[in-house]
Amino acid sequence: MIEFFRKLFDSDFMAHGYCFLWKPYLVWLHVSSDAVTAASYYMIPVALIYLVRRRRDLVFHWMILLFSIFILACGTTHLMAVWTLWHGTYRLEGVIKAITAIASFPTAILLIRLVPEALKLPSPAQLRLANEALEREIQERKRAEQEVRQLNAELERRVEERTAELQRATEQYRSLANAMPQIVWTARGDGVADYYNRRWYEYTGLSPEQVQAEGWGATVHPDDLESVSQAWDAALQTGRFEAEYRLFRGSDSTYRWHLGRAVTERNKEGRITKWYGTITDIEDQKRTEIELRIANEDLNQFAYAASHDLQEPLRVASLYSQMIWRKYGPQLDGEAKLYLNEVVGSTRRMHDLLHDVLAYTRLSDSEGKVERVSADRALSEVLKNLKKTIIETGAHIEHEPLPDVWALPVQLVQVLQNLVSNAIKYSRGTPKVHISATRNGAECVFSVSDKGIGIAPEYQEQIFKVFRRLHRDQYPGTGMGLAICARIVKKVGGRIWVESDGKNGSIFRFTWPAA
Ligand code: ADP
Repeated sequence: MIEFFRKLFDSDFMAHGYCFLWKPYLVWLHVSSDAVTAASYYMIPVALIYLVRRRRDLVFHWMILLFSIFILACGTTHLMAVWTLWHGTYRLEGVIKAITAIASFPTAILLIRLVPEALKLPSPAQLRLANEALEREIQERKRAEQEVRQLNAELERRVEERTAELQRATEQYRSLANAMPQIVWTARGDGVADYYNRRWYEYTGLSPEQVQAEGWGATVHPDDLESVSQAWDAALQTGRFEAEYRLFRGSDSTYRWHLGRAVTERNKEGRITKWYGTITDIEDQKRTEIELRIANEDLNQFAYAASHDLQEPLRVASLYSQMIWRKYGPQLDGEAKLYLNEVVGSTRRMHDLLHDVLAYTRLSDSEGKVERVSADRALSEVLKNLKKTIIETGAHIEHEPLPDVWALPVQLVQVLQNLVSNAIKYSRGTPKVHISATRNGAECVFSVSDKGIGIAPEYQEQIFKVFRRLHRDQYPGTGMGLAICARIVKKVGGRIWVESDGKNGSIFRFTWPAA
């Protein structure tokens, strides 16, 4: 082996030309073919290496390099074939062929393994198709981008238009709010005020900065502040605000009564997003209302005092006329008896009248607790109170089961008693009375109907006023019963009315809060 490598470059064998018998055409055919092949084999790797260095992105880069080594080795074997024509350096030629073999075998194996992967690479035709598709997509995208740009421009134009419209509407709304004689304000959903019209600043004499620093609370009369704050806190939950309070007037440092009201705007979820409010000067109405209340109270006081004080002399007159009747009655002649009878009857009527006027005036300050009352039980009490009249007249009283209501028991009895006793009193023949009630939402509608003389439509409102009587001479009475009923029903927030064609009886109806 050592011997082999020592003589590696020796040409101690017979030159290859002898095999060709040195025939020139054969020698030169081999020389030229091997030389051209070798030269080509040397040029190919140069071209490949140049390509690999310039195109770093090429796939299978390493394979190209391996192939270059292999082809370089092949080129050298052809060069050696030229050399060995004249020199028998066959050891070196063998080694070069061995190197070529070593380079070629892994290259061939790797190349075979590479084929499936290489097959996956797109062919130029596929690449062209893919390229065309890509090109189309790029064009498509460009068109889409263009459209988006146009849409954006359109959108911006519309937003600008809408903003301008909104600004115009806001200005119009502000001008409208400023033209109003009332104070107008708006607030955010959380209740923080964000706008007041000009009237607010004129009235309070405050600047926008002062309002922002001190808030609206500073303009409310200290005595009303708590109730207004409570109403506002409740409004933040319910979405409705209404309160009467005194508001500071900057021009003369006085307070005037105002009515504050506000409504809300809500979003889809029901959350309050905006408040719209007005504040109206009600000083004049308030003053009139106070004066009226005082006058009313005075009148009530007077009526009460007068009826009360008149009772005593009336009692005396009644007592003495009865004493005269008892003591001197038998001695009196017919005419004197008639006069004395009139006196006794008049004092009794006067007594009834004073009793009713007192009952009416006392209604304004009726004491007691509103409680759940069985209207059935109230009616039983009425029928007990009217027992004597019912027996005397032979009245038929029918009633359906009545509901429970919220009431001062005595007041419900008073209303039912007045209506039932009227139904008996204003009857034709044997009185027939029917009492019923139906529930209608939060209230009950009571009905007392009779088959009596009826009430002509033109009198159906008047009869609820004090001292209004339609049949003064035929029936006894004071003209106070229905007025008392109307006052009680009004106090509990109900209504009272009568239905009648003026001939075939009447139906009195009234509403009352249901329990
Ligand atoms: P009075 O003491 O006169 O009955 P009311 O106030 O109870 O006073 O009634 C006022 C007037 O209404 C009566 O005078 C009568 O003319 C008329 N009126 C009341 N109830 C009836 C009824 N059920 N039918 C016909 N008229 C009635």
